[in-house]
Formats: sequence, C-alpha cells, structure tokens
Amino acid sequence: MRSRVRTEIYLDYAASTPCDPLVVEAMMPWLTSEWANPSSAHLAGRRAQKAVEEARSQLADAIGCSSNELFFTGGASEANNIAIRGCAQAHATARSKVIITPIEHKSVLGPCEALVQCGFRREVVPVDRDGRVDLGALANALDSDTLMVSIQLASNEIGTIQPLREVTELAHQVGAIVHADVTQGLGKIPVDLEELGVDLASMSAHKCYGPKGIGALYVRGGAGSRLVKPLCEGGGQERGLRPGTENVPAIVGFGAAAQIASERLESESRRVAKQRDELEEMLVKGLEGVRRNGPMSRRLPGLSSLTFNGVESDAVLANCPELAISTASACNSGAPEPSHVLLGIGLSRHEAYSTVRIGVGRFTTDDEIRRASEKLKAVVERLRSISRSESSIAGQGESVDTKVVALR
Ligand code: PMP
Repeated sequence: MRSRVRTEIYLDYAASTPCDPLVVEAMMPWLTSEWANPSSAHLAGRRAQKAVEEARSQLADAIGCSSNELFFTGGASEANNIAIRGCAQAHATARSKVIITPIEHKSVLGPCEALVQCGFRREVVPVDRDGRVDLGALANALDSDTLMVSIQLASNEIGTIQPLREVTELAHQVGAIVHADVTQGLGKIPVDLEELGVDLASMSAHKCYGPKGIGALYVRGGAGSRLVKPLCEGGGQERGLRPGTENVPAIVGFGAAAQIASERLESESRRVAKQRDELEEMLVKGLEGVRRNGPMSRRLPGLSSLTFNGVESDAVLANCPELAISTASACNSGAPEPSHVLLGIGLSRHEAYSTVRIGVGRFTTDDEIRRASEKLKAVVERLRSISRSESSIAGQGESVDTKVVALR
C-alpha cells in the first residue's frame, strides 16, 4: 500500500473529537465477541449489563454524581430534549415559564420553542459581549411561575464558561429547576455536578474522545425524583426514561472516555490552552483587523472564535479545505444564516459572517498549530488584497462578485 502524507489538519474539536485509541480498545469486545442484549437473563446478557453499569459509574465518578442519577441517551441533543420537554410534561400544570439565554445550543432552543407552542412562556435573558449571562437580568426574570432555567456550562462557539453555581443559587431561591447543557465542558474543564448544584444536565461522548451517538442525562435524585417524564414509551430500559436496547459498545466507550478525560484533564487542558493561545497570538499579531470573541479568562481551553475584518469565513474555508475549521454558522435548509450565538453577543451580521471557529484538542501538534496559522494568515491576506483590487475595478464601473473568492 502506498503511504500517504497527511496534509489535513483537524482543528474542529468543538464539533467532534476523534475516538481515543484506548476507547476503541475498550469498545472492541462489545463489537465483536460480546453481543448479548443486557436485558437478557443468561450469562452473556449479565456480562453486558455489568459492562453498562461499570461505564455508568466511570461517568458518574468523572462528573461528581451517583450512578443512579445517570441515564444513557443517543447524545446530548436527545438529553436536552428529554430534560426540557420531559420536565415540562412532568410539571405542566404547576408553572409555565422557561428561562434561557440567546446563545444556547439549537437542541435547547428547539424544545423551548416546542414548549412555547404548547402555551409555555419563554424569557431570554441577555448575555454580555463575552457571552456571560447577565445575573441581574436573570434575578429579575425569575419568579414563582418559573419552571426551569436552562443555561449551558460552556459555549460550543465562543467557549464562554457560565457562572452556573450563581445561576443555580438564584433559581433555587424561587424553586425553579436548573438544567445545564455541560456537553462542551465535559473532559475539558472540571465538571462537578454536586458543586454546580444543577438538577438536570446533558452531555455527549463524542465531544470528549468517545464515540458518536451516545450521551447521558443527569437527573438529580435519579428516577425517583420525578423531575422529568420520558418522551418515548416502551421497554423499561434506563429505568423507563429512555426505552430501547442499550448501545453497549458506545456506552462502554463513553465510560472509558470520561475516565481517561478526567485523569488527563489538568495537563491536557494546560497544553491545549497554550496551543490555542499561540495560534491566536500568531494571527492577531500577524494580521490587522482580527478580533477574538469570548472572554479571555473563564473560556474553554481549546476553543477560539476569530473575526477577520473584511473577509467572509466561507471564503476562508473554501481556500484552505485541508484545514478542518468551521464557520460557526448553522446551515438551515440550504440558506446559511449567521450564527445566533455571534449575533447574541452583539456581533453584526457582517461580523458574524467573517468569523471562524477553531478547536484545538488532544491530538493537535505544535507543528500543526504553526502550519495552520501560516495558512490562515496567507489566505486572509490574499482574500483582502483581491477584494481591495476588485473594489477598485468595481469603482471603474465593472461589476465584480467579491462574495466567495476561490484562490488557487
Ligand atoms: N450541546 C452542545 C453545547 C453541543 O456542542 C452539542 C454538539 N454540537 C450538542 C449539544 C449536541 O450533541 P450531540 O451531537 O451529542 O447530539
């Protein structure tokens, strides 16, 4: 077989992380020799059941809760849906208001919109320019009709880490339930659910070097707390909250990934933050008109959101396809809309369209950081010079499309 020089550089760790080889190793027996259904009473079934419970305690240990408070789901989107819609179903007649921020993940915004369609009220409390929730506005919004506050631990687009402990203290004063999407924090910053005091929390394995299609919902007090109702009925798996045969290999992988991530958390986050900072420094110092989004402290270690004045992020991406970075804008039904998160922190549509998200992670090398920053710098400079010369041609009466310029 011909050896292939790897020219691609993966810097999209906020979108998904590679499965760690140790995680793959832990999963292998459950993909090959051990295939039994954990609900089966025979020996093989009991082994599978035991593996699921071991993974549950690995995850519980990593995030400071007890195993019986964790319910495996098909990912964080599903966990967010169960938390929000399931909580509304469990308490439908008691209270009717949900509070969120404008920068929550779509899988939180979507279920909240569904609640509004059913007669709930939604209040959106503002965030500051760095994405931090306005605690004063939150305190004003909270009242005896507030059923739930849903605020993420860390932003998947700008990395802001929210003051969740303070959010929880305020919300609990009026008896509101607190849900936190901790997906981006897990494995990257310490997550101690007991200390945060949240009632419900959603998470996903593929953001912390585990497999895709597996996540979990934390429910304070476990099934007996009746904080949420299931959205699907059927088998009694996951104590009735999430029926369906358990995805044993993925669950085992999630447990292993959580354990590895918590063991390496300190050293890894230090190294990753250093690489992210170096990349930002090279771009901010090497180019004019580059703006960092999100706070400089209390930010996810590997995440960088950069606005390059005067160039569209789509054009940047089109001209360095070997760099796996993203535009931070969701593509809705073919019409690319600027990111609601960037608009939520006060960027103009124009600035949002000029923003890229870069995610550094476990397998990023210093050499990749250097090569990526050189490439980005060259592409941005070239796009700016083309757009300058095109606008001078356009000034002479010719029409020029400067929207997406493909370089050779
Ligand atoms: N919440 C956040 C903050 C995320 O970053 C993501 C992944 N983009 C999700 C939820 C959804 O996770 P999953 O892919 O497991 O559904």
